[in-house]
Amino acid sequence: MSWIAVEDLQRLFQDIAAVMTSERDNLCQLDGVIGDADHGIAMELGFTAAAKAVGGLDPTAADPTAVFNTAAKAFLNAVGASSGPLYATAFMRAGAAVKGKASLSESDMLDAFSALAKGIQDRGKAEVGEKTMVDAWAPAAAACEHARAQGGTLHECLLEALKAAETGRDATRNMVASKGRSARLGERSLGHVDPGAASAVLIIESIRGSFP
Ligand code: ADP
Ligand code: MG
Repeated sequence: MSWIAVEDLQRLFQDIAAVMTSERDNLCQLDGVIGDADHGIAMELGFTAAAKAVGGLDPTAADPTAVFNTAAKAFLNAVGASSGPLYATAFMRAGAAVKGKASLSESDMLDAFSALAKGIQDRGKAEVGEKTMVDAWAPAAAACEHARAQGGTLHECLLEALKAAETGRDATRNMVASKGRSARLGERSLGHVDPGAASAVLIIESIRGSFP
């Protein structure tokens, strides 16, 4: 595949924003059961702001790091919920992982993906099994890295990441929350999918769809 340019990343943020808009009510519904019903709104606001800010960059002057840093700032400013700093950190890390590059190779994009996932875990300090978005992001990053080590293409690696994220999201149904707002529910959080894990799958699906 060809190199990934600033325009491709601008389009990616627009795609994710469009998905979050169409899935807003579903995500709010999931958060309504075990949280405060705002996750869809947070994700729509965050990605719409990020897509707008990123879309305002001049692709002949900005580099991929600037795209991720701009997205991070806009996301953080737009989102008051706990997902705000988590994704802002994730985008900053993705930007740092590809610093100095004018466009991204498949390998660079995989570096950015891994850094993004790790950023969420570093920032939120959640482990797998605590019923958060980490239950989708951590296995996604691990599956991606495994496929990469086997010589997989970007598309193959992202497909494995998506499958692992979906499995992780589904597994949150049988977890008791111990991080974030829903931790207060204790056992009552059992039986419900974590909204942050659900939106993580949507993001990974968009990323995979961007690099066919
Ligand atoms: P809030 O809980 O402040 O209303 P959101 O509704 O936007 O924020 O996001 C809720 C999601 O954030 C949860 O479903 C969970 O996946 C995720 N989350 C909460 N705390 C953490 C954490 N410490 N680490 C990772 N993800 C977390
Ligand atoms: Mg919420």
